[in-house]
Amino acid sequence: MDCIFCKIVSREIPSKIVHETERLIVIEDINPQAPTHLLLIPKTHYLTILDCDDREVLAELLDTARKIARDVGVAKKGFRLVVNTNEEGGQEILHLHMHLLGGKVLSGRMG
Ligand code: 5GP
Ligand code: ZN
Repeated sequence: MDCIFCKIVSREIPSKIVHETERLIVIEDINPQAPTHLLLIPKTHYLTILDCDDREVLAELLDTARKIARDVGVAKKGFRLVVNTNEEGGQEILHLHMHLLGGKVLSGRMG
């Protein structure tokens, strides 16, 4: 499939993988918007969060984000989880992923 994140999951495209679970990988964003900018990517190709009805995947996204936030040291000061969805939501890559941003005071703008 011609999908950047599927190719990252299969290691066809290299990336900095910081964590892997049964159902997802966590990588460093190639164009970081904060000192910590990680992407949590399900191994299965779901176009958007609307297309994923697997509650285990949805739970693992949140559980892993909480764990990684603690592990990389942004939990206490604060961080942000973002799932851009479809065009007006700013989703550029149509393979479900969650951003984990932290390590600085994040912009207060939400839209
Ligand atoms: P979206 O706008 O779809 O929510 O976010 C896509 C994110 O993927 C962007 O932050 C972008 O920098 C990141 N990205 C795009 N291509 C690559 C890549 O090849 N490798 C990595 N590590 N990140 C990528
Ligand atoms: Zn994909």
